[in-house]
Amino acid sequence: ASLYKIDSWGAPYFAVNPSGNVSVRPYGHATLAHQEIDLLKIVKKVSDPKSVGGLGLQLPLIVRLPDVLRDRLESLQSAFEFAIQTQGYEARYQGVFPVKCNQDRFVVEDIVKFGSQFRFGLEAGSKPELLLAMSCLCKGSPEALLVCNGFKDAEYITLSLLARKLDLNAVIVLEQEEEVDLVIEISKKLNVRPVIGARAKLRTKHSGHFGSTSGEKGKFGLTTTQILRVVKKLEVAEMLDCFQLLHFHIGSQIPSTALLTDGVGEAAQIYCELVRLGANMQVIDIGGGLGIDYDGSKSADSDLSVAYTLEEYASAVVQAIRYVCDRKNVKHPVLCSESGRAIVSHHSILIFEAVSASVSRAAPVAMSPLGLQYLVEGLTEDARSDYTKMTTAALRAMEIGASDPVRTYHVNLSIFTSIPDYWAIGQLFPIVPIHHLDERPGVRGVLSDLTCDSDGKIDKFIGGGTSLPLHEMVGGGCGERGPYYLGMFLGGAYEEALGGVHNLFGGPSVVRVLQSDGPHSFAVTRAMPGPSCGDVLRVMQHEPELMFETLKHRAEEYCGQEHGSNGGDGDTDDYDHGMANNSALASSLAQYFHSM
Ligand code: PLP
Repeated sequence: ASLYKIDSWGAPYFAVNPSGNVSVRPYGHATLAHQEIDLLKIVKKVSDPKSVGGLGLQLPLIVRLPDVLRDRLESLQSAFEFAIQTQGYEARYQGVFPVKCNQDRFVVEDIVKFGSQFRFGLEAGSKPELLLAMSCLCKGSPEALLVCNGFKDAEYITLSLLARKLDLNAVIVLEQEEEVDLVIEISKKLNVRPVIGARAKLRTKHSGHFGSTSGEKGKFGLTTTQILRVVKKLEVAEMLDCFQLLHFHIGSQIPSTALLTDGVGEAAQIYCELVRLGANMQVIDIGGGLGIDYDGSKSADSDLSVAYTLEEYASAVVQAIRYVCDRKNVKHPVLCSESGRAIVSHHSILIFEAVSASVSRAAPVAMSPLGLQYLVEGLTEDARSDYTKMTTAALRAMEIGASDPVRTYHVNLSIFTSIPDYWAIGQLFPIVPIHHLDERPGVRGVLSDLTCDSDGKIDKFIGGGTSLPLHEMVGGGCGERGPYYLGMFLGGAYEEALGGVHNLFGGPSVVRVLQSDGPHSFAVTRAMPGPSCGDVLRVMQHEPELMFETLKHRAEEYCGQEHGSNGGDGDTDDYDHGMANNSALASSLAQYFHSM
């Protein structure tokens, strides 16, 4: 298990149990031993139609863990509450969840439900998101914020104003200067007093992959000059009291608290200036950016990790805002964050199956001993020493001999659909066999999906490896021990929202699993089969019914008669290939349209 560093990236939610399977600890640190859930048992229960209560769901499968979601939400809330209390900050934390990170209805509903005790709200970035956020927040705390971000046209602004009419705490956050004219005009027309925010374009720039939205050249937000013009316009329209929130977003996956402190400090200065200019400022919304430690390295040097804990993040924010406000003698604002990745990443696990393995290429360091000697002799003293250290470390990390082949494990999913960020931006996620972790993996492999696209493979893994330690496959699985299941962890944010229907693979089946009374027990409270082939075809404008009819006619034309009634001479195989019976063929075709 240590090979996969599960303790580093998975704690406190994932561990390995004495059976060698990944176990889920639904309440994080507060999980008691008997509350742990064996992930393999979940997979078996929902995928095997013969098991008691089995649902026969096909893989890939997303296992959602609402208990983990609740724990993330509560941990974020308590991190801020602790920082507020210990630093004598005189306002509260009131977060929102950016629905773009995971628009799944049940995820958003859960967040609203779990967060209503601490006024947790939602952030929307488009009209459909706003509609779903409005309907979900009808069941939330009346004070929960509904932050309306994103590009806004008249329709979007009208909808946000209607939300206020429905008594939802909607705040229209200006992302472009012109939006203020529309807000003034439409709110007067609808006779609604809006609450307005502005997104500041900060100088603070996050240089990692996710920082392209930050800095003065960032795509979004208003410069200080533009914010000042907005203040003037609102003053003229006698609406300066409506300006109540300052928002900024440095970028996702902020690597360090040093950068966070710079950004928050800069925004706090603008906030104080707005107070001085007479705006009715109440809330500072620090955007997203609270990062996830995907590789367990706790380092600020990679996009895959962050060098802080939840508590350190909250403490840095509170300290930076307090410092600026105290110096300017400004009342402490309510603190809002739009943490998406940090809330939803852990709660869902993508499970897929390796269906076959083949030897595909030699290990990347394979080289004859003589070749290696020539190479090393050609290097300078320092380079030779570095090279030797590197090679030894690489070989040790792989535990394999230099010439051992790397295998290709074929896995039944579409990487484009289920792990789109891997393909699009090279984002890595921990991928681990969910069982046999008490056995040393004997081989190394790369993962190749079943789509026809040659990019549909994973050959980069957390920790820098170009292959993954895997257990030997015999036939279609681990021999008599059954199928070989792998899990991709920490993918609850963005991946499902981005995934399309590449290669018409459709999406995974989804189950919700709650810890229940009794040792190691759990309940599957909801099971949604993945889309059928027909469903997926419809998305791409095909008409599965017509296609089915066409194929059925063709079956009748070519397979003609019922089996045995073809008038043949009876001494050959005639149509006797098992599928000669056209009604059998038709029903088999029908199954393809309804399953897969
Ligand atoms: N808020 C805004 C405006 C964003 O653009 C994003 C995503 O980049 C988020 C919040 C969520 O960020 P994260 O997932 O890093 O918390």
